Amino acid sequence: MNPRVKIIREISEKTNPSNYIEKGAVSRYFGENTLNTKALKEKLAQRTFMKLQKCISGEDELTIEVATEVAHAIKEWAISKGATHYCHWFQPLTGSTAEKHDSFLAFEDGNLIERFSGRQLVTQEPDASSFPSGGLRATFEARGYTGWDPTSPAFIKEGEYGKTLCIPSVFISYHGDSLDQKAPLLRSVELISQKTKELLALFGNKPQKVFPTIGAEQEFFLLDRDLANLRPDLVLTGRTIFGARPPKGQELEDQYFGSMPERIMNFINDVEQEVYKLGIPIVTRHNEVAPHQFELAPIFEDANLATDHNQLLMEVMKRKAIKHRLFLCLHEKPFARLNGSGKHVNWALAADGHNLLEPGENPEENLQFLTFLIAIVRGVYRYSALIRASVAFASNDHRLGGNEAPPAIISVFLGKGLSYVLDSIEQGKVSKKSVDEKINLGIRSIPKIPKDSTDRNRTSPFAFTGNKFEFRAVGSSQSISIPVTFLNTAVAESLEFMKDKISDKLARGFGQIEAVVAVLKEVIPEVRPVLFEGDGYSDEWQKEAKRRGLPNLKSTPEAMKAYQKPEFQKMFIGYGVFSHSELDARYHVEIEKYCKTVHIEGQTAMDIAKTKILPAALRYQGQLAGCIMIASKSQVQEKLLSDLAEKINELIAVMGDLEKRLDRGVSEEDLDKKAEIYCRMVMPGLDALRKTVDELETVIDDELWPLPKYYEMLFYY
Ligand code: ADP
Ligand code: MG
Repeated sequence: MNPRVKIIREISEKTNPSNYIEKGAVSRYFGENTLNTKALKEKLAQRTFMKLQKCISGEDELTIEVATEVAHAIKEWAISKGATHYCHWFQPLTGSTAEKHDSFLAFEDGNLIERFSGRQLVTQEPDASSFPSGGLRATFEARGYTGWDPTSPAFIKEGEYGKTLCIPSVFISYHGDSLDQKAPLLRSVELISQKTKELLALFGNKPQKVFPTIGAEQEFFLLDRDLANLRPDLVLTGRTIFGARPPKGQELEDQYFGSMPERIMNFINDVEQEVYKLGIPIVTRHNEVAPHQFELAPIFEDANLATDHNQLLMEVMKRKAIKHRLFLCLHEKPFARLNGSGKHVNWALAADGHNLLEPGENPEENLQFLTFLIAIVRGVYRYSALIRASVAFASNDHRLGGNEAPPAIISVFLGKGLSYVLDSIEQGKVSKKSVDEKINLGIRSIPKIPKDSTDRNRTSPFAFTGNKFEFRAVGSSQSISIPVTFLNTAVAESLEFMKDKISDKLARGFGQIEAVVAVLKEVIPEVRPVLFEGDGYSDEWQKEAKRRGLPNLKSTPEAMKAYQKPEFQKMFIGYGVFSHSELDARYHVEIEKYCKTVHIEGQTAMDIAKTKILPAALRYQGQLAGCIMIASKSQVQEKLLSDLAEKINELIAVMGDLEKRLDRGVSEEDLDKKAEIYCRMVMPGLDALRKTVDELETVIDDELWPLPKYYEMLFYY
């Protein structure tokens, strides 16, 4: 029997693992596996806790005495929870997380004890020579160090047979270069916090604590694991490289917000219970647009924690999917012609708990709100190529470059209400009804900000949604740290720009309100080209964007060039977010990753075509030849056979062609040229092979077809 058929028969009988324990109200166990600030405070002497806080805020250096006391408290807590090992949990340039476990066990005077010293808490030296470093670390100095990040709480990872204490950490080279995603993120958070405070000071506000807030909505597909395992393309590359258009796709739009199948619901409940224990506030779950596509979304948190939590969420989902015999697809485009998956990164700025992107109650507050709003728009405009580069990698090209939301052109959507406000400020006239008489500014006034400006435009890659921006070009599988780091830095530069401009006006004798309005009036027309309210999918927008001079970078090699632009490098280096070598390293790692990803796809496609598709097609050709011979000599039937033979010849030809293109890629030494070959030669070669294979799928006897079909993966439960 065809293995497909066997597995499909078994699908409906599958049950979930039955070791689920009802835990009652979430608030009672939320965060029980993390040691957050509050819990740590209870475990430390008041003096030590205060010292630690000072280290976290950067006022003080961490001393070994403080580290020792904190390590002791963490160890006692972890052991009381059943942990036997600890690890530094870090985020290398692979984009996923890494950890090396060590036991607490140590010998002291011949006795076995459990030890966790201050030094062990603060730093670990994993043998890190196999992590990508983009040349930052030569092999003779292969050492890399992980260093404790006290701003993200330690947590405990639970397995069925044991528990491990995880210490969120940064990862640096022997020479102090960042080898990870986290250090630049932390630097960018510090930077934007500083720049925000400086701008706020001009409005008479002096908050203590400022940071970007992030809520990352996570989209994903879930498939039956046994069925997915019959597809080497899904297993090895995360996407279906082949697959004919099924009779039914997502056209009925009956998926979105539909009720979830029980198997999926059980999986999600299991994931939720685990992440609640880790203190990850997942609050929203729903079906997405495509069949078998879903979304989980958290309550927003500070940027660092939100990034760690999104990484952890993906980890937990992967683990639980195996347990539930499901296949988790985090790939941006697992199925052709169906919606892809993204990560909508909601972004705002909080100052002492107050959201700076919340339109205010009165005109003065609104003036501050508008200053931040325009600064952000300007940052996205000026650095749009960088923002695009932050979401550039092979699998996201299928969304951003293809016919998929959102487009590769970075534009900003503000909504009708705000657009009207900007028009009014720029033109210096405001309609009678919206004039607020409280301040006369020479341009008469600024209008009230409409409270509900949430008319959504789903095609925009960067949309204002009432009191936050939603960056939708981020891919579902990627770590959000680079997109957030780039965004923070671009906006920080803009906040500084606004501060300088306003300060300059003040120095020239403008009143406070006058100065701000004058600056807004100057900057709004400058940023206009990036503002777009229309349909981002349309061809007209592609043309219009070109006219406006907006970059439209469809592929990773094109988009990644931003990393090498002197003006962008200067900004990053000037602000200390990246050093020159760190930027270079990231460029190399990403381009190499791109080439390898496409190469693996090419090899996988070749392997499937050679060992599965071609044999099936030949077998069918044999069958057909036999049937037709027995039947009467019918020209119509003979044509079936000759058409098939032609398709098979075509298959052999496109396979040979792809093989040659792959060889070209492998033998090219220059990294940039290599990427070009994979982008301009291998990808089209893959598409051509797909076209032929998909056509064969629609004519070959279903019994003989070796791969699970789209409708089987997407509609059978
Ligand atoms: P939707 O976008 O589906 O309408 P919401 O607007 O409620 O849903 O929020 C989507 C995501 O945006 C959630 O993860 C939420 O926590 C997050 N979010 C809401 N406010 C902020 C904010 N000030 N900063 C960052 N993220 C936010
Ligand atoms: Mg949303």
